[in-house]
Amino acid sequence: MPPETASQTAPPTTPAAFGTVFCDWMTVARYRGGQWSGPAVEAVAPLALHPGAHVLHYGSSCFEGLKAFRMPDGQVRLFRADRHAERLRRSAELLCLPLPPVEVVEGMIREAVAANRDDTPHPPGALYLRPTLIGTEANIGAAGAPPAEALLYILASPVGDYFSGGGRPLTVLIEEHGMRSTPGFGQAKTGGNYASAMRHVVAARREHGADQVLFCPGGDVQETGASNFLLIDDRRVLTKPLDGSFLHGVTRDSILTLAADLGYEVVERDFSVDELLAWTAFGEAALSGTAAVLTGVGELIRDGRRHSVGDGSIGPNTRRLRQALTDIQAGAAEDRFGWLS
Ligand code: PMP
Repeated sequence: MPPETASQTAPPTTPAAFGTVFCDWMTVARYRGGQWSGPAVEAVAPLALHPGAHVLHYGSSCFEGLKAFRMPDGQVRLFRADRHAERLRRSAELLCLPLPPVEVVEGMIREAVAANRDDTPHPPGALYLRPTLIGTEANIGAAGAPPAEALLYILASPVGDYFSGGGRPLTVLIEEHGMRSTPGFGQAKTGGNYASAMRHVVAARREHGADQVLFCPGGDVQETGASNFLLIDDRRVLTKPLDGSFLHGVTRDSILTLAADLGYEVVERDFSVDELLAWTAFGEAALSGTAAVLTGVGELIRDGRRHSVGDGSIGPNTRRLRQALTDIQAGAAEDRFGWLS
């Protein structure tokens, strides 16, 4: 159990690179013989896994990423934990992995926050929670069978900005051939999707100095390697409608809800790369995600040609929507949609 006194890790004022620092405690539950063990708080330590573990061979793993924020009164509150627990369940279903009931997952996330609350930075930093579910059964003959044993753990990590440089407009490479995931599997938050996106993102960074890749197979604008993608102007927010090709972002949903509330017209429909480039001659483009929050795009690269988005800076509507979200997350505005718990 965690000690009563403050943790060894002091709340960082300037957190290191996103995801590289871990808190001392995690919550853990194990699945065996058709049953989940009661969750426990354990010290973060290397896992003992058989080299034949299902996850190491057949990719039976999924995860979540959500944040808890330190409020002005010192309380630490989770942002839309119910949505993230539900999405973990959806990913687990697609991967044929067992998963405890949604209330148990939410309870484990809450316990992980409680055990590490002293490490939660002040806004704009946050405590990032990483629920992870893996198939642990030692069985290399089970390519076509789900693992009979599994492990669910919730890691915590104090974080600041995902994109180093904070409010800097991003450069995004348009990828019209490669895909981020196999069709229908985009809504699973699973390592395999990130693995298939990786070489495109690495090449975009190395060869073009881009921050991210926007996957648009056959011209269909889907999402980036780590976020959803939105077009914004003074009146409208346009994004792809929910389907099986991409991850259904909780931030995407939050931004669309806030945009409608602020009087923007929210349009969910498919659009092409040509339409995207026509839009960015006058409008704004942004990446949304738990880590990315809402970050403006300054430049798009298509077939080696650079296209400025507006004047290349982050536009006023992107800033306004980001502020509306971060004010609720930081407890500086009323939580009028009941997103904090
Ligand atoms: N798409 C991908 C590929 C992502 O990795 C993420 C980040 N989890 C998102 C979209 C945005 O999801 P969310 O807003 O729930 O963080």
